[in-house]
Amino acid sequence: MLSWNEAREYIELEEMCELLRKIIRIPSIGSRESEVAYEIIDLLEEEGIKEYKLLESEEGRGNLIIDVKGRSEGFNLLFIGHSDVVPPGEGWSINPFSGEERDGYIYGRGAIDDKSQIVVYTYLAVLLNRLGRDFRGRIRILIAADEELQNPNHGVRYLIKEHPYIFKGIHGAIGELGGLVSIGGRKAQAIIIGEKGSVSHKVVLKGKGRHSSLVGEDDLIKIGSEFLLRLPRKIYFVSETFKNALKDAFGWKRHLIFNRLLSKHLMNNDPILNMYIQALSHITIASTIVRAGEAHNVIPDRMEIIINARIFPEQNESWVRRLIEKTLSRITKNNYDILLQTYVPATLSTTDNLLYKKIVETIREMNYTPLPLIQVGSSDSAWVRSLGIPVYHFFTTTKELEIDKIHGADERIWKKDLLKALEGYYRLIANIQ
Ligand SMILES: [Zn+2]
Repeated sequence: MLSWNEAREYIELEEMCELLRKIIRIPSIGSRESEVAYEIIDLLEEEGIKEYKLLESEEGRGNLIIDVKGRSEGFNLLFIGHSDVVPPGEGWSINPFSGEERDGYIYGRGAIDDKSQIVVYTYLAVLLNRLGRDFRGRIRILIAADEELQNPNHGVRYLIKEHPYIFKGIHGAIGELGGLVSIGGRKAQAIIIGEKGSVSHKVVLKGKGRHSSLVGEDDLIKIGSEFLLRLPRKIYFVSETFKNALKDAFGWKRHLIFNRLLSKHLMNNDPILNMYIQALSHITIASTIVRAGEAHNVIPDRMEIIINARIFPEQNESWVRRLIEKTLSRITKNNYDILLQTYVPATLSTTDNLLYKKIVETIREMNYTPLPLIQVGSSDSAWVRSLGIPVYHFFTTTKELEIDKIHGADERIWKKDLLKALEGYYRLIANIQ
């Protein structure tokens, strides 16, 4: 393989930016992923890359698979990203679907999560192809639908069910993002090795509706409010699985991070680290949707509450269910149902693995410090890890990804970082030869 310095001559930053702008302009909010795929397919066709497939779970909900085979057998690497985005929300200073550029940044919903990454993946395929596929092994790129909503009938879970061959023969995978992080004043490139799980239950309280002039103790909104007040929101928990996995990451600070009192003291000066450590040392429970009532003079006969919990490998969906049941049973003898809505398990890939070691080597070669981290949100990597494939999130950047903007207003990517991330992936493939 050519060295990166030679290879980079075959790619222009502007062509990458152009594709990013085009796909930001498609508001693929839990829909229209196939339109994003068609933009990418147009480029693949121009480049003479024929090995791609668009697999739709329903019309418009396309998952794009791109294969680039090297000259001989070797490491089969899967790159996982997604083409759907979350709704823009309020507070943008520019149109979230314009793909506008300002001061060296490209703005828009998906500019980071995850459209920049799928542009980098696409140009990795283009670059390897332009260079005559002079590498060993196989690169498979998976640009999935529905990552944000996690409907089991779309996206990665649809592929696992209906097209399982996509995951056969894969030796390791790269998942969503990573990037430069600054933790406690120390800058490093993140390697995400695992993630907390996510469980959502719908609590349905049922009672007798009646005229609001007739008061009583069985007012469902009152019962529901009491439940919400009593439900614990943060439970301190030391996950031995995660703690062992991170044993090198934080050095001496590790002992402090997992000690409740000391961690408070240590993290006081660093609000972002503080939030991260809070999430990493607690099971968190949030109420995200509440629905009840239709008329101002009727006490409702039904109330629905969505509870979303973030858990460790030591818990599962029934653990959360028991917590909800225990809290409810102290408040009401009324009828209620607890219905599981979504469950993404907590997962972890070990660092005792060739791909992990090669990622570390690549980051060091680029003069950065590698930092293994556990993500407190969940992603499609959980499903791929469940198939026994190790997954690491790795996306080299020169600027910190602005985490608060990812699902918020003014999401943006430093455009030169598209090339920096491509450099990371190219060097990784060179190192794994
Ligand atoms: Zn994402």
